[in-house]
Amino acid sequence: MLASVGNHYEGMIPIQQMSATEDQISHVVQAMSSATISCPECKTRIRYGDYECPRCGNDIEDQLREWAAWMLGPLQSQ
Ligand SMILES: [Zn+2]
Repeated sequence: MLASVGNHYEGMIPIQQMSATEDQISHVVQAMSSATISCPECKTRIRYGDYECPRCGNDIEDQLREWAAWMLGPLQSQ
């Protein structure tokens, strides 16, 4: 029954490497620099870090979430 002790950790999720790959880094850099979030009301381009339209005050959280999902999508599959 000693073998069962040795198998105790089988099936556990292996520790993921925490450092980002070059592909992941370049993807994020590109996503940050090419972010084209714009206000759905007045089409004003939203700067990174803004949570509402600087012209009409419209909440752009939905657009931010879409952008975040797009940015994170390829990262989660690796
Ligand atoms: Zn607006």
